[in-house]
Amino acid sequence: MQSLGNDSERAIQKDQQYLWHNITPYNEKNPPMIAVEASGSWVTDIDGNKFLDGMSGLWCVNVGYGRKELAEAAYNQLLSLPYFPLTQSHMPAIALAEKLNEWLEGDYVIFFSNSGSEANEAAFKIARQYQQQIGQHYRHKFIARYRGYHGSSLGALSATGQAQRKYKYEPLSGGFLHVAPPDSYRRPAGMTVEEFNLQSAQAIEDTIVWEGVETVAAVIIEPVITGGGVIVPHQVYLDRVQEICRKHGVLLIIDEVICGFGRSGRKFGHQNFGVKPDIITMAKGLTSAYLPLSATAVRKDIYEAFKDNSDDYGHFRHVNTFGGNPAACALALRNLEILEQENLVERADILGKKLTAGFAELLNHKLVGDIRSFGLVIGIELVADKVTKQPADLAVVKGIIAECKAKGLIIGKNGDTVAGFNNVLTLAPPLSSTDADIQFILDTVTAVLNGSW
Ligand code: PLP
Repeated sequence: MQSLGNDSERAIQKDQQYLWHNITPYNEKNPPMIAVEASGSWVTDIDGNKFLDGMSGLWCVNVGYGRKELAEAAYNQLLSLPYFPLTQSHMPAIALAEKLNEWLEGDYVIFFSNSGSEANEAAFKIARQYQQQIGQHYRHKFIARYRGYHGSSLGALSATGQAQRKYKYEPLSGGFLHVAPPDSYRRPAGMTVEEFNLQSAQAIEDTIVWEGVETVAAVIIEPVITGGGVIVPHQVYLDRVQEICRKHGVLLIIDEVICGFGRSGRKFGHQNFGVKPDIITMAKGLTSAYLPLSATAVRKDIYEAFKDNSDDYGHFRHVNTFGGNPAACALALRNLEILEQENLVERADILGKKLTAGFAELLNHKLVGDIRSFGLVIGIELVADKVTKQPADLAVVKGIIAECKAKGLIIGKNGDTVAGFNNVLTLAPPLSSTDADIQFILDTVTAVLNGSW
C-alpha cells in the first residue's frame, strides 16, 4: 500500500476515487473530513485541525477516544485466541454474557452479532420462531414507530419508520407496521403530555387488535427515539406499552443500540422507566465502537422454549461468522469496567443535566421550538414558526451545523427529508467529556445561534 502521509489533497483525491461513503455524497469541492487521530472527546483531521466530537462518532464512542487499555485488551486476546466460532464457545464470550446479565439486572441469555442491525435481525427471528415454538403459528407481525431507526439491513430497515431511508428500496420485508411516536411537542392543543402519551400507546393496542391479536409477534421500540429527533416519552407511555404487550402475548423488544451503556444516565435506557423487556438489542457503546460487536439479550424462559424442543427444527438456526469475536468480547469487558470504574454512567446524567440547563435560555431564540434530553442525548428542535411549529428549512439546519464545525464542534441532526423532519440538532458527546468540553459545546452552539441566525 502506498502511504498517503498527511498530504490532504492527495488523500481527498484517492478518497473520491475509491471510497463509497455512508449516506453523504461528497465531491472534491465538498470533501469529507479525514480523521487521523483522536483523544478524549477531540478528533484531529489530516490538516491538523481539532474538533470536539459532539456526536461520539455515530453516538457510540462512550468512553472517549485514545483508551490504551481497550487496545491492550484486544491485542492480548488476539495473541492468545483470535477467533473461535460461537457454534461452540470461548471464555471472553462467556465472561461478557455474564457481565451483561449483571448490567441488565435480569435473567437473560445473550446472542452475539456484529452490528445493531444484525442484533435486531436476530431479535426478529427469535421473536417469530418463539411464537411458533409455543404454538402461536400466525404471530409474525411487528409493530414499530414512525421516526424510529432500527438499522440498514432489510428487516431492520422494515422496522425503521423514516421514509427517506426506505423509499428507494421498497418493497421491504412484509409484516412490519408503524404507529406515530409520542411526540409531545406536537400534541394537540388542550391535551396534557400524559393524556397524549396514553393516546399514543393506545395506537399500539388498536393496531394489535385491528391486525388480529393472534398475528402479532412483537413490538420494537427504542426507550427514547434518538436519531429520529430525540422524542422522549412520558413514564405512562412505557408502562402502558409494556402492559399492552403482556395483555396480548406480544413480545416487547427494546432497541438499546444508542440508549445503552450509560448514554441515558442509567446502564440501559429502559431502566429509567422500570420496564422489563422480553428482548434487548445493543451495539455501539458495548465496545465504545473500538471494535464491531452487538448483542441480543433474550429473557431466559423464551430461550428455554428453543432448548426444550427435541426435533431438529426447534433450535435457533442462525449463525454469523464473526459475532462474538474473542477480541471484541475482551475489549467490551474492559470497556464496561472503564464505565464502572470512572462512574461514567452517573457522569452522563450529570453532563446531560448541565447541557440542558445551559441551553435553557435558547428557548427564547426565534428558531428554537423545543429542547429535549435523555441522559447525555440532547435534541434542539428548530422551527420556522413557533406557533405553527413548522420545521425549520434544511438549509438553516445545515448552515448552523456547518458554522459549529467551523468553530471546532461536530454536532448532528435527525433526518427524514421525505417526511419533512430534519430539523432537530443532536448532541451526544462522550460520557468521559470534561467540564471544559461541555462548556465549549454550550458556548459554541449558543454563539452560533445568537450570531447570524
Ligand atoms: N438501532 C438504533 C437505535 C440505531 O441508532 C442504529 C444505528 O444507528 C441501529 C439500530 C443500527 O446499528 P448499526 O449501524 O450498527 O447496524
